[in-house]
Amino acid sequence: MPHPAVLTPAADHGGAGGAPFSVLVVEDQPSVRQALVAELHAAGVHDIIEAESGLPALEIFRRRRPDMVLLDIRLPGHDGYWVAQQMREAEPGDWTPIIFLSGLDSELDVWRGIESGGDDYLVKPVKPIVLVAKLRAMRRLLDMRRRLVVLSDELHRTNRLLNDMVEADALTQLVNRRGFDRLLHSEILAARRDATPLTLMLCDIDHFKRYNDALGHVQGDACLRQIGQLLREVCIRPHDVASRYGGEEFALILPNTPRSGAMTFARALGRVLQGRAIPHPDSPLGGTITVSGGITTCVPDEGTSAESMVMRADETLYAVKAQGRNRFFSFEMQMDTVEQRLA
Ligand code: GH3
Ligand code: MG
Ligand code: MG
Ligand code: MG
Repeated sequence: MPHPAVLTPAADHGGAGGAPFSVLVVEDQPSVRQALVAELHAAGVHDIIEAESGLPALEIFRRRRPDMVLLDIRLPGHDGYWVAQQMREAEPGDWTPIIFLSGLDSELDVWRGIESGGDDYLVKPVKPIVLVAKLRAMRRLLDMRRRLVVLSDELHRTNRLLNDMVEADALTQLVNRRGFDRLLHSEILAARRDATPLTLMLCDIDHFKRYNDALGHVQGDACLRQIGQLLREVCIRPHDVASRYGGEEFALILPNTPRSGAMTFARALGRVLQGRAIPHPDSPLGGTITVSGGITTCVPDEGTSAESMVMRADETLYAVKAQGRNRFFSFEMQMDTVEQRLA
């Protein structure tokens, strides 16, 4: 009787059509093994690996990773159940179909076979049509599983991308408020654990309403993007975070940065901004965009929260605005970047 092919495109159901398909045959009786190999050949399987007993079979399984295993139960030395268990342990997170072969058509054999990690069961002498049908069914499952693995990888990638998008500000591509909240919280925990100083800097563009009024919101948006880019450039250390807190306000999280370091950073930021000289046609402070900032620095303890840090930075920023803008104040040092103590 003609053999229905296992690996014709129709049998693939859209799977890895034409991809090489290998079968490991573990059978100690040479005549039975040869008959199986012949049937597999006739069914279109040409990559066939043979083993006579458990240990060599395991070795081949680990090294060659066949697509499917036909596994005799009664083998010299370790039996097929043990071999199946070892194979399962050798491929954590992966799955190779295992079909048991046995002359004993007992229900207990079926039970033990499935228990030890097998997927199906064939009674010897194996009827060609049954063998081919089972091969096709297993091949189909294997293809489906592979597609699932690919899909779940894609899903993971998409999920990561979505998470990033949820925390990105659409205008500046900086971390948005949601990301800021999460990152500040985790940096507080890390700084508390390591007993290192953490600095938070709230920056606010001076007289930005006038900028919009003078040049329009489209130009205003472009200016916000420019400031965002500048902040990204100055936050060079791997854990520094530049975020858009909202509107024309930006928040910088600077881990492992003491008070004096924060002041140095703020002065440098001021100089970079001055160097860019972004024109502001209607600023009472001069012809270019300026920024004011409130700084708070602490080695967090149990009482430190994201809210308390933001409150201190915000309070300080408010004082800066009252003191004339275009400078940064440190809450803890009560000192600003133009070396004046707060009155
Ligand atoms: P101050 O120096 O006191 O901070 O003055 P200010 O004008 O910058 O502050 P105010 O809070 O009065 O105004 C902030 C302005 O920022 C008002 C608003 O139009 C502008 N703004 C906020 N978000 C955006 C934005 O996404 N795009 C544009 N173009 N403008 C924005
Ligand atoms: Mg045997
Ligand atoms: Mg503001
Ligand atoms: Mg402002």
